[in-house]
Amino acid sequence: MSSFQCPFCSNFMSVDFGTFAKKYVSFAEYPFESNGDPRNRTPNESCVEIDFYKCPNCEKYSIVANGLGTNVNNISSSLQPKSSAKQFPDYIPEAIRQDYEEACAIVNLSPKASATLSRRCLQGIIRDFWGISKARLIDEINELQNKIPAQQWKVIDGIRRIGNIGAHMEKDINLIVDIDPDEAQKLIKLIEHLLDQWYINRHEQELLYTDIIDIDKAKQSERKKTE
Ligand SMILES: [Zn+2]
Repeated sequence: MSSFQCPFCSNFMSVDFGTFAKKYVSFAEYPFESNGDPRNRTPNESCVEIDFYKCPNCEKYSIVANGLGTNVNNISSSLQPKSSAKQFPDYIPEAIRQDYEEACAIVNLSPKASATLSRRCLQGIIRDFWGISKARLIDEINELQNKIPAQQWKVIDGIRRIGNIGAHMEKDINLIVDIDPDEAQKLIKLIEHLLDQWYINRHEQELLYTDIIDIDKAKQSERKKTE
């Protein structure tokens, strides 16, 4: 039995009749040889295979479309969720999550625009998480320098510079600096890393602290009862 990881909640589910359905969309009623080997997926008629997964944990649907056959074999797309973006919790501001998700959604179509969105996402994070707000990102990043580890700061300043390529026209408009999808994907990874390191760590720390304080309060009141 194969398994599938839910992109919404990261739960691993077993793929069976309850969690998985497959449909073929085509001009043909059934686009495969009826007595053909099911593992040989070359259809008689071009078709789009649509896979539905229903997560037993969060009950969300993941839907993937794949083209099979010469006329459609360039189709390979996740219909839901729209991209490989991770689902971050609601306590991260919506504007930041949106920029991040859009940066993921267009990373292959326009890596330069994706890098620009990653840069804007970074600015949103610095303003919200660190409470630093200035007219220019470069000034905000400079103010961040003494608050975070030196190596991390250097990398963040790097995102700013790379994202600049998309955000501002080069002085010489004939000079085109390209960003490839792998490079734009690396920036997305870094945004994910910062969201984990800053927002999620802070949230988990707060929960842990609250738990400890509550345990302490409970013990103190128990002690009072026995005195
Ligand atoms: Zn799920």
